[in-house]
Parts: sequence; C-alpha cells; structure tokens
Amino acid sequence: MTGLRTAFGEAFGRAAEGVWHAPGRINLIGEHTDYNDGLVLPFALSRGVSVAAARRDDGVVEVRSLQADGTVTAPVEGGTVVSEGWPSERSWAAYPVGMARVLRERGTGGASLLIDSDLPQGAGLSSSAALECATALALCDLYGVEIDRPELARLAQRAENEQVGMPCGLMDQSASLLATPGHALMLDCRSGLSAQVPFDPSQAGLTLLAVDTRASHALTGGDYGRRRAECEEAAALLGVDALRDVKDLAGALGRLGDPVLRRRVQHVVTENHRVEASVGLLRAGAAGELGAMLNASHLSLRDQFEISWPEADTAVDAALRAGARGGRMIGGGFGGSVIVLTAADRAGRVRDAIAAAYAKRGWTAPEFLDAVPSAGARRLA
Ligand code: ADP
Ligand code: MG
Repeated sequence: MTGLRTAFGEAFGRAAEGVWHAPGRINLIGEHTDYNDGLVLPFALSRGVSVAAARRDDGVVEVRSLQADGTVTAPVEGGTVVSEGWPSERSWAAYPVGMARVLRERGTGGASLLIDSDLPQGAGLSSSAALECATALALCDLYGVEIDRPELARLAQRAENEQVGMPCGLMDQSASLLATPGHALMLDCRSGLSAQVPFDPSQAGLTLLAVDTRASHALTGGDYGRRRAECEEAAALLGVDALRDVKDLAGALGRLGDPVLRRRVQHVVTENHRVEASVGLLRAGAAGELGAMLNASHLSLRDQFEISWPEADTAVDAALRAGARGGRMIGGGFGGSVIVLTAADRAGRVRDAIAAAYAKRGWTAPEFLDAVPSAGARRLA
C-alpha cells in the first residue's frame, strides 16, 4: 500500500491522494444462471486490484499498471472505447478508462491511476470487475460523488458491456462491491437484490480450494456467446422472458424438440434450484453438505451445458478420490479454475492427489489458492 503510493510518485511525479482496493471473487454455485435472470452465490477473495489515484483538472485519464507495459492517456469525454478500436497492447486500459467515461455522467472527472494486482488475469477470478470497481471507488471518492453500491455495480457492469464490449452479467461487480467477510452473496440477477448468507469454511472445519487448471479460455470466447444464444432461443420457444421463469421442467423439456436446447434448459433450471438449496444449507449451518451441490453442478455443466474441459474433470475426479466433499468447474468454461470443498485436515492430501493426476498426464502443474470469504471493495489509505 505504501509501496503503491511510492510507485505512484515515481510514475507520475506527484503525490497520490489515496489508495483503493476491490477484490476478485469466486462463485460458489449458480453457473451460467446470471444471464438467464437467475440466482448466483459468489464471495469475495482476499486478493484483488488496488488503485492509487489523484485528480487531474484537464479532463484526461492517465493509467498505468504494474502488470502491463506503458502509460495510456485518453480524454474522459468521448464515445465508447470499443468503438475507437484501440490496439491490443492498450486494450487492458479500456476497463479503467471506460469506467471513468461512464462515471463522468455522474460528476467525476480526469485522474491519474496506478494499478497493482495480486489476482491472476483471465483465470475466472474476475480481475476485470476488480479493476473496474477499484477505479470506480477511487473516482467517486476523489470527486465526492455518492452512488450506492448496488447502483455502482450496475455502472461498472455497463462499463464492461458498453465500453469494453464484453456482454457480462451483474455478478462480478456486485460481488466485488457488496461482499462482506465470512459471507457469500446471494444475488438475484433479475431484480439486482442481494442477501448476505453466512459462509465461513474454516469455522466449519472446511477448506475451499481454488485450483487454476492452467488451461486458458482465451481462444474460445465464441462458446460463451453461443450458450447465451441457445438459452435465449429456448426461452423464446417456451414463451418465457428468461429460463429463470421455467417452473415445470418436465413440461418444458417435453415441448422442446431439439435435444441440445433440452440439455441447456435442464442445466439452467436445475442450477437455480441448486443455488436455493445451497443457501438453505448454509443458513442451516451445514456448509459441508454443499459438496453434493458442487458435484451435481459439475456434472450438469459437463453433461448438460457441455462446457467442461479435461483438466477440470481430472482435478475434480482426483479430489473426490482423495476424499474431498465436492468440487466443480467455475466460470465460462473450456478453461480457468475449479473449486474443491474438503475437510480442512484432508486439504493437503487432496492437493497432492490433484497434482499427482496432473503429473501423470504430463500437464503443467496446477496452482492452488485457499479461498477465504473476504471483505468487499474499500478505501485502503
Ligand atoms: P477475469 O476477469 O476472469 O480475470 P477477464 O478476461 O474478464 O478475466 O479480464 C482480464 C482482463 O482484465 C485482462 O486481460 C486485462 O485486460 C484486464 N486486467 C485485469 N487486471 C489487470 C491489471 N492488474 N493490469 C492491467 N489490466 C488488467
Ligand atoms: Mg472478467
């Protein structure tokens, strides 16, 4: 933190006015439900993105990142970044510049921003939303603009949708801004309403491991759009606004002729029920029982939604054989991370078993992160 202030002084030749932090997240359960107006259950990680910042009075946003090369400057006023066709080496700056452009309508202005992060990028831990939310908090604080957190989450989502051109849902930004320690956040993606649900694995004698499977999802972005389109097509055929509204699953499946659409509907509808069941288990103080929900979610994502990948299936399988309570792939699919819930005193064995399964296949060793439900975005200094 003092390190980032010092680095800011060296980068921009003047003092930072403050440092802000926004966490990455893991979604416990509720995968590919967000854009179907459904339910999700994310929690914030202790890792995230920090931003040291100071105002500028010339209407310019100037950004640097300790994880990227070069300085990017752009006017706060302007259309969308995506329409300006920035070259790939500065595409990362679309997130903070886009955020500044969206917030300008609310009264914020130019700024110098220095970014630092301890989150892996593109690993499904939501470094993009952390970057947007840390930037948003910094700008609002610097300019004395008050926006409540649920609304700020919508604005950060808008920045990613309109400015970056990524059609993400509301989950990542909500988790980063609304999370509290020792809790997961149940978010209704239709209403935007959320509730805090107690989730403290270590207190329950459990460990939640996030495993970076080291398979990158970058090259298969089109699959996400395809699944979205399939869900929309199924909803239209069933005459509902979104798959969230399907109440009679068996009836709906009987009315769909296309087996692919039937599988997609089966996943989305049952996954919403799994989120509700998981919230019930957590409220009852039965966090260990979540393992069964994670396993069911993984099988559904693998067999009905068809977006798992070999490293994820291998990691989950090895974890279960080593006595974990459950595990599932997380994120968009075809790469990224899995989560595994295990009794804390078995965590070492589970980790070793996954690493051994990887070694046997000659794959790059996976990376492990002990995920602890942590605080949402805040000012650090
Ligand atoms: P995820 O959100 O799962 O990490 P995304 O593809 O949504 O994956 O977002 C990753 C992108 O966010 C990176 O490619 C980069 O453009 C930007 N980003 C995230 N963290 C940083 C950072 N510390 N510095 C610069 N850009 C970052
Ligand atoms: Mg992201």
